[in-house]
Amino acid sequence: MFDLKQNGNENITETNAKAAVEASLEKGNNDESSKIPEVRYSTYYNGKKVNVYRVVVQPPNDWKTLPFNKLPDWLQDNEFLVKGYRPQLPSVSLCLRSIFRIHTETGNIWTHLLGFIGLLIFAIYCFSVPLSQKTWQEQAVFGAFFAGAITCLLFSSFFHTIYCYSFRVMKSSAKLDYLGIATLVVGSNVSLIYYAFYCYTIPLIIYETVAIVLGTAAAIVSLFDKFSESKYRTFRAALFGGVGGSGVVPLLHYCGITGFYRAIEIGGIPWFLASGLSYLVGVTLYATRTPERFFPGRCDIVFQSHQLFHVFVVVGAILTYCSLNSYADYHQLVGHNCSVVHSIFKNGFVTQLRRS
Ligand SMILES: [Zn+2]
Repeated sequence: MFDLKQNGNENITETNAKAAVEASLEKGNNDESSKIPEVRYSTYYNGKKVNVYRVVVQPPNDWKTLPFNKLPDWLQDNEFLVKGYRPQLPSVSLCLRSIFRIHTETGNIWTHLLGFIGLLIFAIYCFSVPLSQKTWQEQAVFGAFFAGAITCLLFSSFFHTIYCYSFRVMKSSAKLDYLGIATLVVGSNVSLIYYAFYCYTIPLIIYETVAIVLGTAAAIVSLFDKFSESKYRTFRAALFGGVGGSGVVPLLHYCGITGFYRAIEIGGIPWFLASGLSYLVGVTLYATRTPERFFPGRCDIVFQSHQLFHVFVVVGAILTYCSLNSYADYHQLVGHNCSVVHSIFKNGFVTQLRRS
């Protein structure tokens, strides 16, 4: 429900009042008592006496959470979360204020909102102190990673906050959410590939191109309306998991060049594997709706699969940063000199270099 004062429309004619009430009905206002226009005063228009109305349609600030089976079809997504859902909220302001209420989306919103704030502050710190010493290429690579991760977390928390406004808003904001995941995947893969193949131009170009093309393809597919439907949950998980997992091929190639133990010694690979594992666990929980499928109604507010998925995404992004940082340290150590890098890969002087 809404107050027409919000639209700068405090005084309106009878015709407009009816239109406003009809609009409020379309928006899902079911409180019958609040739909009656109130005569504010009478006046004369073109020689005729007309009533001027003020519509007293107020937002339901006191909205109550609903069980799954009372939701409109388009808000039903996960039947294992039994109750605690936000109803359709008819104003953006109410959706925004709902982040301070307890419901099934509270955890989803805050896990990525706090991740977004934390990562944004950390990115500002990195670019103001440690990264300011690095080459412009390295700054661009870290920039791609931070931009991807920050966009993902921001779009995700926006989607979870706003989607209960209307079916159309849900569809549009879900596309933003998926677009954010694509930017995270591309930003992470592109930056890691840069460091792994820094001294190997042809593989560098090939893998960077493939990472960008796959990420763009995933983003385009996610723009189809059907993509956000509940029944395509596994397909979504497989698509983003597959595009993210495509980083395994350059990883194996990299280990082939350096040798597995040297790759571990350089330091980026263990962090990369840990971040991949974190994403994999998160996506698996999301796709299988674990643990709520085993405890229906017990995970409505906390520990539901989507929240855990969000936490694993934030952890995965942090571990990706650690991997990048390890590579950056290593390149600092060898002085960005490719003949030294090739010699290390051939002779294994990493430990000696670190000790010296
Ligand atoms: Zn989400």
